[in-house]
Formats: sequence, structure tokens, C-alpha cells
Amino acid sequence: MDNVRYLPGASVVLAPGRPRADRDAIGDRYTALCEARAHAATSVIAMLAEACADDVPVLVDELHQAEQLRRELATAVDELADTIAAVRALHEEREVAGPAGPVLVCAGCGIEVGAGPCPTIAALDGGSDG
Ligand SMILES: [Zn+2]
Repeated sequence: MDNVRYLPGASVVLAPGRPRADRDAIGDRYTALCEARAHAATSVIAMLAEACADDVPVLVDELHQAEQLRRELATAVDELADTIAAVRALHEEREVAGPAGPVLVCAGCGIEVGAGPCPTIAALDGGSDG
């Protein structure tokens, strides 16, 4: 437990060194600091302020990680949207001559589509084919 210090007004406090952020503990430490400023000894306030200052790099790292994840997700969503658009383009309906006149056929599936889209487009639209 070398990495843990106990401070008055706060629960377990991790020592400096980039531990995984415990947001609840960080909030507790900040609350303890705010409360201590009203009535605690200067040494206690300084200790709590130091603990809060130690939280800053951890929070900054978390923000950077969250931003990186957001960017990766945005890229994945864009790639997925491009893929869906490409599939939709492959499944465009085309009018072809049928025995009794023109019919609509899915260019991708090669099946005649009547009142609704082909199964692929229905699935993309959230429908179920069975
Ligand atoms: Zn199709």
C-alpha cells in the first residue's frame, strides 16, 4: 500500500504517479478541500490541496484518452456510413423488361422487388426479413 495515503476529510488517496482515475475519490478530495478551507488547519488544507493538484494530470490524461476514443469512434462511424452508402448503391432498383411489362429489379440481388425494397435494403433500414 505504498501508493496510498490517508488524508483527513478524504477517503483513500492515491499517491502521485498516474494511477487510474477514481472520479468519485477525486470528487471527494475536492469536496474535502472546499470544506476544509472553511475551518481546518492550514497544514490540512495544504495537504488536501496537494492531493487535488495530484489529480490534475490524471484528469488531463483521461480527457486526452476520451478525446482519442471520440475521434476513433467518429472515424468508425464515418467508415460505416460510407460502407452502407456503397451497399445501397449496389442495391439500387432498376427497371427491366419483364414478360408482362417493365419490372423493378434490385441490381445487387437480382430479384424482382415489388412493394418493398430487397432484403438487403430492408435490413439496412431496420426491417426484418425473417
Ligand atoms: Zn438487393
